[in-house]
Amino acid sequence: MRKINQIKYRNKKIKVVWQHCVDCYAKYEPSKKLLTIHPEQSNLNLAKTLIHELFHIICDFNNIDINKIGEERTAKLTEQYIVIFKNNPHLKRLINELY
Ligand SMILES: [Zn+2]
Repeated sequence: MRKINQIKYRNKKIKVVWQHCVDCYAKYEPSKKLLTIHPEQSNLNLAKTLIHELFHIICDFNNIDINKIGEERTAKLTEQYIVIFKNNPHLKRLINELY
C-alpha cells in the first residue's frame, strides 16, 4: 500500500502523517490542516477511515458544523460509500475512470 503524504483540496494542501492515534483510526485537525492516520488497520477499515476523514475535510472547507449531525452518525453515514463501492465493483471502477 502506497501511503500518501498530502491531500490537495481547493488549492490548499492538507498534510498527512501516519502515526499512532490514541483511541482513534485517524484525526483531522482543521486549525493545522493536518490529518493523522493510524497506520495499523485493515485495508477495508483504512478505506472507511479515509472516506470519513475526507468528509471532515469537506465540512471544514465548506464551513459545515459537523457537531450538528454528530460524530457517530457522520461515521455511520460516510462509511456507506465503502459499503456501496464494495458491493458494486463496477461502480467503483467507473468512478475511478471518470477522473
Ligand atoms: Zn470523525
